[in-house]
Amino acid sequence: MKIKRQKQAKKTISFYKYNFNFREPFQILIDGTFCQAALKNKIQIKEQLPKYLMGEVQLCTTNCAMKELESIKELYGAKLILQRFQVRNCKHFKNPVAASDCLLSMLEGSNPHHYFVATQDQEVTAGLKKIPGVPLLYIVLNTVVLDKPSQCSVSQVQAVALGEMVTPAQQQNIDSLKEVQGIKQDGERRGKKRKRKISNPNPLSCLKKKKQPPRQQAKKTEGDKKRSRHRKRTAGGQGPSLNPTPVEK
Ligand SMILES: [Zn+2]
Repeated sequence: MKIKRQKQAKKTISFYKYNFNFREPFQILIDGTFCQAALKNKIQIKEQLPKYLMGEVQLCTTNCAMKELESIKELYGAKLILQRFQVRNCKHFKNPVAASDCLLSMLEGSNPHHYFVATQDQEVTAGLKKIPGVPLLYIVLNTVVLDKPSQCSVSQVQAVALGEMVTPAQQQNIDSLKEVQGIKQDGERRGKKRKRKISNPNPLSCLKKKKQPPRQQAKKTEGDKKRSRHRKRTAGGQGPSLNPTPVEK
């Protein structure tokens, strides 16, 4: 059973690594409910999570989650566990909100910071399943379980595979790549191309003007009698046609 659980976890982690750009150290956003369950089931979060996720982890929480535990005496033990973790800044610095609201707000609609969420809270669980690319950790029967990717995550990945859309993670990847190296050059190239497009009309208009004088010359050769008339015309015509030539030089 243990091996099966580990295999499933490995598969799920690869899913998030490949499709949502998750990287070590994995950021695990933990709330009081998870700490309480860990305490009850004698699970050492710091030891268990890196083993189970087969990688480095960074355990973190928010001020709101801490504040919520302070108000409940029965959760003092959970508070002691939670306060050992890094406190990530949330939007509610001055006015703490319910831990469930705070945790969901940390995901910002697309989980740009690649948080795993470790919770037993049904409200958080239901909320994060509406956001693609949020791995869920929970405790059941004395063990930590990494939930299978939500339907929301799976459908987004399928949509991307069909070329219907780009995931926020992929977009982030693209943006960071642009910043780092190659595509910055592409951006410049694109810029140059645009500049070329703008500069194109000028040489083209010059070419048209170039073509006009040979036509007039051709007309000159048509007839001797007409030559004199044409010469007069071309003399008049050369006037405006002289203007573009200095521009070319
Ligand atoms: Zn908060």
